[in-house]
Parts: sequence; structure tokens; C-alpha cells
Amino acid sequence: MRLRRAEQLLRELRAVSDAALDGIRDLRSRFSDGVIDAARLVSGSRMKVTGRPVWKLGNPPNPFPPHVALEGRSPQDGDWDAVSIQPYEYEVKGGGDGPELRERGPFQISGWAPGDHAGCQCSWDFEAVLEIDIGIDSPPAHGDDLFDL
Ligand SMILES: [Zn+2]
Repeated sequence: MRLRRAEQLLRELRAVSDAALDGIRDLRSRFSDGVIDAARLVSGSRMKVTGRPVWKLGNPPNPFPPHVALEGRSPQDGDWDAVSIQPYEYEVKGGGDGPELRERGPFQISGWAPGDHAGCQCSWDFEAVLEIDIGIDSPPAHGDDLFDL
């Protein structure tokens, strides 16, 4: 009796398993081989795919210098803070002493932001970043230990 029950359970398990495999085959058929290979490479390795926000300038009719300076940069870059809060410097006609240097902005505490100027076409884009863990957290204290077997 128990044997029949076990056989029955195995048949049910097999049916569920076959249905799951059909689902995986169906999903796989929707992607090209390259996508599958890349996904397998990432999932089977010590690699990680993350996103990185990047400033995109667009093609504004009147490029705004502080925004031009941010093109292609990311808040994850080391110099982002310095560049994103750099005031806009420009010359105006002064009195008798010649041109006068003025500065203004950024208009927000966090720094320059898309939409700061008339005709701004700036936006954030996201780039995929592939991080590879090479598995070395810290070098061995004694290199010779590697050979002490
Ligand atoms: Zn802009």
C-alpha cells in the first residue's frame, strides 16, 4: 500500500517537474543564446550587475556650462560632489574697470539638477555595471604560506 502511495507521489512530482521544465524551456526560447549565455556566466560566477546613474546632457539649444561639466559623470564618481556644486561663473560688463566676474548657483542644496535652466534637456540615465569579485579580500600575511602544504 505504501509502495503504491510512493509511486503515486513520484508520478505527481514528475508531472510538476515536467511542467516546470516546460516553463523554463518556454522562457528560454524567448531569448537569444547570447542573453542566456551572459545570464549563465553572471549567475554562475562571482560577478554582480548593478546600475550607475549618469548625467546626460541631451542637445539643449543653449548649453548651460555647469550642466555641460556634468555630462557623463555619476554621483558615484569621486569628484562628483566638487563638480556638482561648482558655481556658474560668468562675466558682465562692469563699470569703468572693465568686465566683472559674477557667480551664481547651484540653485539646490544637493547641487546642479536637471531642469535648472531654460531649454534644459538634461536627465539621468542608468548604465549597467558588471562588478567582478576576484575573491581576494586581503593578501595573505605571508606569501610563503600558500606553498606550505
Ligand atoms: Zn541642463
